[in-house]
Amino acid sequence: MKKIAVIGTGYVGLVSGTCFAEAGNQVTCCDINQSKISSLLQGIMPIYEPGLKELVQKNVERETLAFTTKIDEAVRAAEVVFIAVGTPMSATGEADLTYVKQAAETIGSNLNGYKVIVTKSTVPVGTGKLVESIIRKSAPKGQAFDIVSNPEFLREGAAIKDSMNMERAVIGATSDKAYEIIAELHIPFTSNIVKSSVESAELIKYAANAFLATKISFINDIANICERVGADVTKVSEGIGLDSRIGSKFLQAGVGFGGSCFPKDTSALLHIAQDSGYDFNLIKAVMETNEGQRAQVVEKIMAALGSLKGKTISVLGLAFKPDTDDVRFAPALDIIPQLKTLGAQVKAFDPIAIGEAKKQLGNQCDYSDDLYETIKHTDACIVLTDWKEVKGLDLVKVKRLLKRPVIVDGRNLFDLDEMHDLGYTYISMGRPAVY
Ligand code: NAD
Repeated sequence: MKKIAVIGTGYVGLVSGTCFAEAGNQVTCCDINQSKISSLLQGIMPIYEPGLKELVQKNVERETLAFTTKIDEAVRAAEVVFIAVGTPMSATGEADLTYVKQAAETIGSNLNGYKVIVTKSTVPVGTGKLVESIIRKSAPKGQAFDIVSNPEFLREGAAIKDSMNMERAVIGATSDKAYEIIAELHIPFTSNIVKSSVESAELIKYAANAFLATKISFINDIANICERVGADVTKVSEGIGLDSRIGSKFLQAGVGFGGSCFPKDTSALLHIAQDSGYDFNLIKAVMETNEGQRAQVVEKIMAALGSLKGKTISVLGLAFKPDTDDVRFAPALDIIPQLKTLGAQVKAFDPIAIGEAKKQLGNQCDYSDDLYETIKHTDACIVLTDWKEVKGLDLVKVKRLLKRPVIVDGRNLFDLDEMHDLGYTYISMGRPAVY
């Protein structure tokens, strides 16, 4: 059992803090955001994540999990301090380390004994050294501490499951003692631990996300070729994915990747490469293809409807993927303003993410968590998130509700023959269009 402080109670800090508590550690999750901590103290989750509320409640009740804005106190009481603050994309595309630096200063000025300081946030190579130097400057002279890089690999929407059953943990430590402490914390979650230097651990996180983003853009490029040569990308994907050297995951063509990680991490990796003197052309192409996929959705709806002036479009899905309320870099945030600029009215459906989307899109569209109300009387429908509600659409009913039977599907959810038989104009990604 270890006393742990987690600085930053967002998707990563809250989930991993809760899982460390579930494993029997004494965890305090801290944040500078007073309203987030107040909500948590009242049992209200600031994010949507399946299974999170129950696990938080259980651990608060058995007093293994606490929440506070008093970061100083939590750091002083802890043996292990995790930094899990945001590292958003800066205006120039690099990772913004403002919050990481703030956290390091707080840790340094409250270092009252040996502690292991673990960076869980996704940070550029060299940040471990930076955190170490900030702490050394503000800590009492001669106070011993160790630095660890322990990047997080959880997926939003499956965060608890991923954290309780990690495929691997990566631990880059500055001492064997620190490595052992952090490795022991991971025993309940995984037996696959990759021991590396701090620098390698920092790069592993970016390399993992960039590789997954590359798979997505690769299949999207193949989808674009499919459209030109009359092939079907879902078949191509199946045909290559069954090769175990390739694997079928992250090979679904569509509107491209979004979310709080892939866009910012590919961009940050490009900068890491540039700063090291390397021109990472492949990742530039991955980012370019991704932007093109979003533009295609708008082109496809225009191809089906002609001018969008005076038309009403229903958009199904605001979250960047199902089972999360996260809309950071979600395709909807790009596509809805484009539809508006082209003169369309937009009605948007999402079962969970309306609150978050409103903060970004304001009154650019009407929002509803009622799928069929959203579709009713619209000229066409665009699918952007593969929510189970959307996958399970009653297509006969939808056809009755739409003014014209037009669906542009950014997630390739429906069967081409069925859409043909139902009389739809159905335009998906990398598959023959149905008219
Ligand atoms: P988030 O924005 O949801 O949460 C970050 C939290 O840190 C916020 O609540 C913010 O108020 C708090 N914070 C900022 N500065 C602080 C400070 N000085 N002291 C205390 N709290 C502070 O971010 P997130 O999605 O949890 O991501 C955190 C990090 O983990 C990022 O580097 C991200 O790239 C990485 N990551 C995220 C995911 C994911 O799926 N969200 C997965 C793996 C890794």
